[in-house]
Amino acid sequence: MKSESHPSALSSAAVRKLSKWYDQNQRKLPWRNTRNPYRIWISEILLQQTQVETVRPYFLRFIKAFPTLASLAAAPLDKVLKVWEGCGYYARARNLHRAAKQIVGEGKGFPRRYYDLMKLPGIGRYTAAAISSIAFQEPVAVLDGNVERVLARVLCERRVVKNTLVQKRLQRAADKVMQAAVAAQIKPGDLNQALMELGAIVCTPRRADCAVCPLKNSCAARRKLADVTILPRKTPAKEIPHYQVTAAILRKNGCLLITQRPHDGMLGGLWEFPGGKQHKGETLAECLLREIREELGIEIEVGELLTSVNHAYSHFKITLHAFFCKPKRGRLQRIGVADFHWVKPAELNRFAFPKADRVIIQRLLHTR
Ligand code: SF4
Repeated sequence: MKSESHPSALSSAAVRKLSKWYDQNQRKLPWRNTRNPYRIWISEILLQQTQVETVRPYFLRFIKAFPTLASLAAAPLDKVLKVWEGCGYYARARNLHRAAKQIVGEGKGFPRRYYDLMKLPGIGRYTAAAISSIAFQEPVAVLDGNVERVLARVLCERRVVKNTLVQKRLQRAADKVMQAAVAAQIKPGDLNQALMELGAIVCTPRRADCAVCPLKNSCAARRKLADVTILPRKTPAKEIPHYQVTAAILRKNGCLLITQRPHDGMLGGLWEFPGGKQHKGETLAECLLREIREELGIEIEVGELLTSVNHAYSHFKITLHAFFCKPKRGRLQRIGVADFHWVKPAELNRFAFPKADRVIIQRLLHTR
């Protein structure tokens, strides 16, 4: 993260104004005002892909369940996934668990340096910079979506923001701002949080409150553009595919069959009603017969439709069709699943399910 000798995008005076603004305007969040690297790490991982207001209760729940690094490392993965349930992007929870085990196993304490943090699963440049600067005051600049937007506007960068050259330019600018902050005796963690906070509450994607912005006198977009929100420029969004997916509600002796997804894929380790994606030319019933045969090695009878649930993931959407089914013949095998259980409806809450399956459970309990 070395920077060349370009002038900073922000003068020392502008950086001081930003720091003062942050002192006076930062939101009160449960992970603020701590130097505890474990708590900062958990909050940063939760904040990836998830809005602050959604993260707040999950953070409190996670810290209550696993108050220390050692408690997280000692917990079974199933319990971690259950606490994470509903927050999405479950690879984050699996990586937190793996990293906690790795840190405890190495016995050298929580890594303090940017490059050591990057060696942990699930920690990329942004998260390593955030933890090392906020917890340990290492002067490393973060470049998350909020900082990217603020700097693209301050510099009036009109090229597509994900362009490699633009990313390099913005990282250089962020590094220079960090140097200016250190020279002005502003803590690296505070500078990073101030820029992120400005992007979150003043210089937002759809609205920029330039009149109250501490950077208004340094901002090129404000001087040059009638509407600053046209920046940063994005690549046009691709059309999101929409899949039809089936799920079997198999019942036997008052119990329901649930299966665990393989640990290494999407939603890995979560439980669900077995089924899968419809192939071209198949009816939904044919899809379900094939999926159950492929995953569990049994033949079933497909009955009435219970419900269809729409759900959007980051790169695709699904409609999940859940059918009541009966086992016909064959012995259950773990072919395409990590595990399976027959459980009573009242026991379903002990397991972590994806959101769409949770909707099925609610409808199921409601129609009994
Ligand atoms: S002056 Fe306006 S556009 Fe520029 S950084 Fe501040 S809020 Fe964003």
